[in-house]
Amino acid sequence: GAGALRRQASSAFAVNGFSSAPTSSQRLSGKVAVITGGASGIGKATAAEFVRNGARVIIADVQDDLGRAVAAELSAATYTRCDVTDEAQVAAAVDLTVELHGRLDVMFNNAGIPRDLSPTPLGSVDLRDFDRVMAVNARGVVAGVKHAARVMVPRRRGSIICTASTAAVLGGVVAAPAYPVSKAAVAGLVRATAGELARSGVRINAVSPHAVPTPLMMDTMALWYPGMGGEELRRIVEKELNEMVGHVLEAEDIARAALYLASDDAKYVSGQNLVVDGGFTVNKAPNM
Ligand code: NAD
Repeated sequence: GAGALRRQASSAFAVNGFSSAPTSSQRLSGKVAVITGGASGIGKATAAEFVRNGARVIIADVQDDLGRAVAAELSAATYTRCDVTDEAQVAAAVDLTVELHGRLDVMFNNAGIPRDLSPTPLGSVDLRDFDRVMAVNARGVVAGVKHAARVMVPRRRGSIICTASTAAVLGGVVAAPAYPVSKAAVAGLVRATAGELARSGVRINAVSPHAVPTPLMMDTMALWYPGMGGEELRRIVEKELNEMVGHVLEAEDIARAALYLASDDAKYVSGQNLVVDGGFTVNKAPNM
């Protein structure tokens, strides 16, 4: 309706950088965020949501063309190439941010790759694939937390957010082990570091999306259902993974969860895993 149109119009206005005076709806006014994996999917939606809320954003990714295009579209964003498997590149992205903007308030460790391509059964798992997935999804997040803490702790300020997944707690959905193991590692890292960071005035939380039809999810689905087209795969996600709610989870839903954790609205929230799944993982009783 007209309300939705107005909302769309006003957010497009802010994203284009024309809205100069911060309003009360700008929950990250004056803040600076790094988003790894910001060129696509959840990271891209979050970059837009953060900019709309007054933040300046550094998009750190390995997809240069996409990342530059997203940064150009958002105007208050800068792209930098950063492969999170290389600690020096993660350190450099954080340093660049401080050089450009003089601060780092939010580190969103969100870069991830889908799953090892190992076939089941477990006896055939390729441990090199396991290492490859862990290097991005788990080790890359450790590097992000380490280097965010390096600049946040001395300033006694900051919010670190790490993307885990419902795959960290669901059995049986993801056949090959690396992906769920990597996401459980992220959730564990958040719990393990929250106390030390709290003493330094820094918060850390995980956000755990359920199935969002991003390129990552759809590539995984294509492996599970060979020969099916994009629309068919999207319908399967809707039917099998988002069935209770009746419509798909969108990247923007995760972006709003990340916005909450990034903002001062969550100033006493740390060490938590914000699961965004419409109730999927807690629904253990038979449907009645
Ligand atoms: P996506 O593929 O759209 O985006 C992921 C981004 O990460 C891409 O732009 C990619 O280039 C980047 N990336 C990959 N390897 C990188 C590296 N080594 N260094 C820097 N950047 C790298 O996928 P998405 O669904 O938006 O995924 C974002 C995060 O959400 C991932 O951690 C993913 O595991 C997690 N997640 C996704 C879903 C889902 O259903 N889509 C569910 C739960 C968790």
